[in-house]
Amino acid sequence: MKIIKIDDGTMEKFLQRSQLDSSSIVNIVEDIVSNVRDNGDKALHHYTEKFDKVDLKDFLIEEEDLKRSIQKINSQLMVSLEKAASNIEKFHQSQLPQEWSLEVDEGITAGQIVRPLERVGCYIPGGRAIYPSSILMTVIPAKVAGVEEIICCTPPGPDKTVQDMVLAAAYLAGADKVYRVGGAQAIAAMAYGTETIPAVNKIVGPGNIFVTAAKKMVYGQVDIDFPAGPSEVLIIADETGNPEYIALDLLAQAEHDPQAASVLVTTSMDLATAVKDQVEEELPRMKREEIITESLQKNGKIIVVNTMDDAIRFSNEYAPEHLIIATREPEEVVKDIKNVGSIFLGNLTPVAAGDYGSGTNHVLPTSFCARMYSGLSTESFLKKPTVQRLSEAGLKSLKDVVIPLAEYEGLYAHAESFKKRLDGIKK
Ligand code: NAD
Repeated sequence: MKIIKIDDGTMEKFLQRSQLDSSSIVNIVEDIVSNVRDNGDKALHHYTEKFDKVDLKDFLIEEEDLKRSIQKINSQLMVSLEKAASNIEKFHQSQLPQEWSLEVDEGITAGQIVRPLERVGCYIPGGRAIYPSSILMTVIPAKVAGVEEIICCTPPGPDKTVQDMVLAAAYLAGADKVYRVGGAQAIAAMAYGTETIPAVNKIVGPGNIFVTAAKKMVYGQVDIDFPAGPSEVLIIADETGNPEYIALDLLAQAEHDPQAASVLVTTSMDLATAVKDQVEEELPRMKREEIITESLQKNGKIIVVNTMDDAIRFSNEYAPEHLIIATREPEEVVKDIKNVGSIFLGNLTPVAAGDYGSGTNHVLPTSFCARMYSGLSTESFLKKPTVQRLSEAGLKSLKDVVIPLAEYEGLYAHAESFKKRLDGIKK
């Protein structure tokens, strides 16, 4: 990894990382989405044969198979899944918003109620790796929010099945149905519905470039969480940062994907040098050395800045998916952090904690999206309709607001609806 010393003025050019450029695949995904919309299961069958190389008679995984998967997996892994699920549930319970109302003015009560989405679809990637943790991170918050029906789509493996760990996680988290369908065709199926897969109100979950492009295409027909690209970590550290831990956090992020980004921003040249040496020492023994090497070459950086304020400014511009703060007083640094998916404080909190088990959600915005999106949460599955009620006093106190404004806008029936009630209470 290169060490770069930057001053404020040169910050801009080090913010870039791999962006998902889906322009070359837009036509392919458009064809898939419209074919599934028009031809339902027949199109799903065609694309599953074409991309996943399996000929499936049906896509639904029977409930019995979900149940049976629990017995088939290693008992230690089951304990890990259960503990992770319990922490994720506890955390997401705390995110449930309260209903409230207040008297806005005399006789005018207004408030907000909370209602879950009725049916949601969770996309669980399954092309190059298996992600039981992503099942927990998508299904559990939906369950906590009170969603009535939660379905999952995940690609079938070469043997036509889905791994038992994924099915066990789905069963444990409380998914209602799991379908063996992947890619853009799964997204289109959940957006428009087919003979076997019902249309949902919202689609969430990570996926590759085809999945992400399809999610953007069906947005409007359904809601989506956000476009999520390759993973990223930014580490802010001072001289108290532990070089061995920091090196492993950089390597851990890089092993996700050749396009992943791992960045250290530090005020200490000594720490920068120690981390660089440590990364070089550790790299050859990493099981995913090839992916890590490509990722670090493309998007890995060690940046040395003059002050902690410069480090914070860089981080706010970068808007990382994950931010580790390994400084003497990390809580002080957090006060100035504006754009980030999830924060990990101190030397003892690796990103892996949030990936699997501290309870926070690992489905997070990437590629600058943390400037405008938060990660997946219980609120992602909730709507907050507003409610109001006027008393006679409320009608009177609003009359000089509503009637003149409605008449000014030429909406005379609006004004009449108010006047009629005022006449009614006078009688
Ligand atoms: P995937 O399930 O997203 O994609 C596999 C599907 O892609 C296949 O079923 C197939 O239908 C489709 N596909 C493959 N080649 C195609 C082609 N040429 N044309 C059309 N469709 C094609 O699985 P993946 O590919 O392993 O990607 C998973 C992604 O999700 C990775 O980038 C990973 O980093 C990311 N991820 C992110 C998180 C997170 O929380 N941010 C978690 C897990 C995974």
